[in-house]
Amino acid sequence: MQTIIEVKNLTHVYTDSENKEIKALDGINLEIRQGEFVAVIGANGSGKSTLARHFNALQRPSEGVCLIEGMDTTVEENLWDIRQHVGMVFQNPDNQIFASTVKEEVGFGLKVLGENAKVIEKNVAEALAVTGLEGYENMSPFVLSKGVRQRVAVASVLSVKPEAIILDEPTTGLDYQHQRGSLDMLKRLNKKGHTVVIITHSMWIAEEYADRCIVMKDGEIISDGKTRAVFADED
Ligand code: ADP
Ligand code: MG
Repeated sequence: MQTIIEVKNLTHVYTDSENKEIKALDGINLEIRQGEFVAVIGANGSGKSTLARHFNALQRPSEGVCLIEGMDTTVEENLWDIRQHVGMVFQNPDNQIFASTVKEEVGFGLKVLGENAKVIEKNVAEALAVTGLEGYENMSPFVLSKGVRQRVAVASVLSVKPEAIILDEPTTGLDYQHQRGSLDMLKRLNKKGHTVVIITHSMWIAEEYADRCIVMKDGEIISDGKTRAVFADED
């Protein structure tokens, strides 16, 4: 299978307000291939979000490289391509929702890409269907429940048809039924060939949905393998 994300010796250092250096990622190596469903787990502060943000070039390596379908994320000319290949859904959907209707919101990325009205209409309809949002087209995202807003955020990313979709704790704050709904949707997308990387606190999510599990601790990967094998390892 084609390699979608390749990270080699990735280190990321933040400088805090007192000029102290914080090594959030320390020599990460990994490869994610097309069609994988990967869970990234680990305690708060272990570096999960920092790693995820490298996958669509929102952050750049301090050392090492991050390649998306072979494109280096530090090369400015690649950013446009990279962001079309890798879509990112953040923990709080409200940080990425701003349009006045669901339809407008979900079509926004396509509009920015300069797609024509026909393509926009078709892709938006598909994204709404796959996320179970038919009938919500003309509603304001802001009157919807958090679970539905989360699906709007996912649909907005999907309409551009990214190869891979990265979700940073997307089910936090959702009730169980809505968590299930979102995850089942991701599973369906994965079956259609999309690569899914989900950052999660919930062991059951990793165990039930992901084929592969990456465990992080203090900026390093301490385990990476088939979910069943990772969970069988007591340490
Ligand atoms: P996780 O998502 O696993 O909770 P993060 O990637 O958010 O981990 O954070 C990893 C480490 O980097 C933590 O020690 C955190 O405090 C630090 N960190 C994250 N963002 C910043 C930032 N903008 N400035 C300084 N330190 C940061
Ligand atoms: Mg995080």
